[in-house]
Amino acid sequence: MAGTLNFSPDDRYNAFITTCREAPFGDGALAGVAIAVKDNISTAGIRTTCASRILEGYVPPYDAHVVELLRREGAAIVGKTNMDEFGMGSTTETSAFGPTQNPVDPSRVPGGSSGGSAAAVAAGLVPMALGTDTGGSIRCPAAFCGIVGFKPTYGRVSRYGLIAYANSLEQIGPMARTVEDVSRLMSVIARYDPRDSTMLDRPYDHQPSANISGLQVGVPEEYFGEGVDERVAENVRDAIGILEDLGATTVPVSIPGMRYALAAYYVICTSEASSNLARFDGVRYGPAVDTRKTWHEAYQDLRQANFGAEVRRRIMLGTFTLSAGYTGRYYAKAQVARRNIARDFERAFCDVDIIAGPTMPTVAFRLGEKNDPLSLYLADILTAPANLAGIPAISVPCGRVDGLPVGLQLMGRQFEDERVIDTAFAYEQEVRA
Ligand code: GLN
Repeated sequence: MAGTLNFSPDDRYNAFITTCREAPFGDGALAGVAIAVKDNISTAGIRTTCASRILEGYVPPYDAHVVELLRREGAAIVGKTNMDEFGMGSTTETSAFGPTQNPVDPSRVPGGSSGGSAAAVAAGLVPMALGTDTGGSIRCPAAFCGIVGFKPTYGRVSRYGLIAYANSLEQIGPMARTVEDVSRLMSVIARYDPRDSTMLDRPYDHQPSANISGLQVGVPEEYFGEGVDERVAENVRDAIGILEDLGATTVPVSIPGMRYALAAYYVICTSEASSNLARFDGVRYGPAVDTRKTWHEAYQDLRQANFGAEVRRRIMLGTFTLSAGYTGRYYAKAQVARRNIARDFERAFCDVDIIAGPTMPTVAFRLGEKNDPLSLYLADILTAPANLAGIPAISVPCGRVDGLPVGLQLMGRQFEDERVIDTAFAYEQEVRA
């Protein structure tokens, strides 16, 4: 049953950077299923931009591992989705291709950085999409657009062919309208790949089960603290109450290291970004450097003209935190804070199986509302800890505030992705019934 899928969607929310009008598909578990792929994941023969001008004209000569797997299972790759430039943001507003709008309310951001993937799914243009999550970029847009988004355990899905932003934090993961579809997509993409040396051979082969009786659910006070909208918190508490009705027991837990989470996250991600993005030198990809200038001048001018303001800000911050004399003061300290947060989670997971809280402190912002970088960084407070600790985390819709979706976040022990999915599935089945 192989063929070609004709895909010409009404992309009124600017969810796609590139669409494939005739998308070939084959046989397999996803035969003929239309899948959208975030534009930082390499697709052979389909331009891949990271929503940046610096990659203008770049067409990857090879597929990312996850894309190979999608094609092997017969999926039709119908397009590449809009995102914050290189994944740096939480609104999809830093894209060089213009912002994506939230299908629930087009005056609002879809979240980010995988905002195009979330909007494409929420608008019904595709049933499933791939996103990437470095500090919340799958879960944030899933929460804001009212869909399901899952960040797998670090090392469960190959990053081969993902254009790196911050390697030690990021994972590719599934986004869909139901937990079942997220699980289905996870079964396809979580396969061992020796080309990603940070992978463990733990393939995901799982049918979600809604039986969560006896489950111990930890509720950290830090996830309901300052900055979290009281109505969002209320919705999430109600959702946790439903888990209790289903046979779970709730236990208060604490992640004291959370107070350093954002500082640690932003030192680590900018440090890694400054090193990763050094490769965009106008020689191998994108617009060419002006060879009449000296090397330093040419490199500087090219990057000034073709990276957006947020990307340049982060490259400068990361170059500073890694420079001689400062690494000890910033980078090394951030690694210590990261280790402490991971240890806080390990300790909590001695007593509980799952940790629950809101995905985002608020509902979706208005387009253009957050224009200072710091207030945007603060929005990652509840998602970045899972990336620092490398643990699996899902966002599943749990009601609305002012008509805008709220996300329930469920986190689990490393490599217990199945349990996280089961808990989300149990909740979803109950509220849909
Ligand atoms: N908002 C966070 C950042 O800007 C998360 C981004 C992501 O997960 N790619 O770094």
